[in-house]
Amino acid sequence: MSMHVPTMFLMVILVSLTMACCTAALWRRSNPEGLGYWALGLTLHGVSFILVSLRGALPYGLTVVLANLLLLSGFSLFCQALLQFQRRHLAVIWLWWPVPAALPGLLMLPDNTAGRIVLIALLCTYQAALMLFITLGRRHQTTGRGQYFVMSAAALGILTMGVRALTTAFAADQVQSLTSSTPVQAATFLISCVVLILSSMGLILMTKERSDACNRSLAMHDELTGLPNRRYSMEVLARVVAARQRHPQHLSLMMLDIDHFKRINDQHGHLAGDQALRRLADQLRARLRLQDHLGRLGGDEFLVILPDTPAQGALRLAEDLRRSVEQLHGQRADSAAEDLGMTISIGVCSLTPADALDALDAIELADQALYLAKQNGRNRVQLTGAGGLSTSDPAPLAPAQPGHAEPDAGAAAS
Ligand code: GH3
Ligand code: MG
Repeated sequence: MSMHVPTMFLMVILVSLTMACCTAALWRRSNPEGLGYWALGLTLHGVSFILVSLRGALPYGLTVVLANLLLLSGFSLFCQALLQFQRRHLAVIWLWWPVPAALPGLLMLPDNTAGRIVLIALLCTYQAALMLFITLGRRHQTTGRGQYFVMSAAALGILTMGVRALTTAFAADQVQSLTSSTPVQAATFLISCVVLILSSMGLILMTKERSDACNRSLAMHDELTGLPNRRYSMEVLARVVAARQRHPQHLSLMMLDIDHFKRINDQHGHLAGDQALRRLADQLRARLRLQDHLGRLGGDEFLVILPDTPAQGALRLAEDLRRSVEQLHGQRADSAAEDLGMTISIGVCSLTPADALDALDAIELADQALYLAKQNGRNRVQLTGAGGLSTSDPAPLAPAQPGHAEPDAGAAAS
C-alpha cells in the first residue's frame, strides 16, 4: 500500500490543530495541569507542518528554519506541560536546548535534506525520551492509566524518530525531499498522528483521573479536620466487621464527644471552636497506631476503630486520650484547646472474638456508653461489651478515678 505523504501532512496538521482546540477548551487558568502548554505545543506543531507544506512557495527561512524550530519548541512545550501536571520543575536547559542547537545545522545545511532530517530526528528522539523520563519519574505518584498512554506515545516517538534518523543516515542518497513518498516517510507521519492522539488523550485522561481522585477524597473526608468522614468511617467499620466474621478477633470502638462544646462556641466564637476541633483531631491522630481508624462522624463527635484490640487495651488508650486532651489545658499557650479548657467523654465498645455483632449494633453500644459517660459527669471513659451496658464486666485496668475511667460499665448501669 503506497501512502501519499502530502496527504499525510494534511492529516498531521488537522490532528494537531483539532487536539489543540480540545485541550485548550479543557484548560483552566486557575488549575492548569499542563493543558495550556500542551495546547500551545500542539498549535506550534500544526503551524510547523503548515509551513513545511508550503515549501517552494515561501522562503527557506520560513519553511525550513522556522518550521523546524517551531516543531522542536512544540515538543519542549509538551515536556513543560508534563512537568506542570506533576507540579515540579526541571532546569530550562534540559527542555529547551534542542531549539538553539538545531539553528546552526539548519542554516548550514540548506542543500542537504538528509542531513537536516537526521539532525531534527535525533533532537526529536531526545525530546521523546525526555517525555518518557518525566512521566516515568512520577509513575507511582500519578493516579490512573492516562500516564501509560503518554508513556506509550513517547516510546513510539523514540522508536519512530530513531529509525528515521538511522535509515536516513544510511540511505542519504535516496532522500530527495521531505515530501517524497518513501515507506519511512509515510511511516513517520502516520505514527506521528498516532503519537499526537495517544499522548493528548493521555494527558486529558490524567487530568480527569486526578480530578476524580480529588472529588472522591473530598466526598470521603471532612474538610475541617482532614479526617475520614462518617461515610468513609462506616465503610471502614463494615469492612472490619466483615473481616472479623471470617477471622474472629477482638475489636474495640470508641465514640468520642467534646464536653459542652456549644458553650465553647458561644464563649469563644465559632472560629475558636473550629480550631479546637482541628487541634483535637491532630492530638488524637498522633496517638493512634497506623492500623487504627479515626474519623469525624459530624459536629464534635469522633469514631475510633481499633482492630484486634481487647477491652483492656482500648480502655487504656481511651483513658490516655481523655487525659491528654484534659492536660492540654494550662500547658503551653499555642493552641486553642488549651485556652478553652476542652475535655472529652469517650464511650468504648469492646467485642471478643466470640461476639458476633454487626457494625450498626457495635456503634449503637459505643454510643450508649458515651451517653452514660455524659450522664455520669463528662470528662470520663465508659466501657461496654457485646452484652450491652447492663451485662459487660471487663476487668478494670487501674482503680477508677472519680470522674474518670469507669471500666465496669455493667455495674454502673445496673
Ligand atoms: P455535650 O457535653 O452534651 O456533648 O454538650 P455539647 O454542647 O457538646 O453538645 P453537642 O455535642 O450536642 O453539641 C455539638 C455542638 O458542636 C453543636 C454545634 O454548635 C457545634 N458544632 C458542630 N459542628 C461544628 C463545627 O464544625 N465547628 C464548630 N465551631 N462547632 C461545631
Ligand atoms: Mg459535645
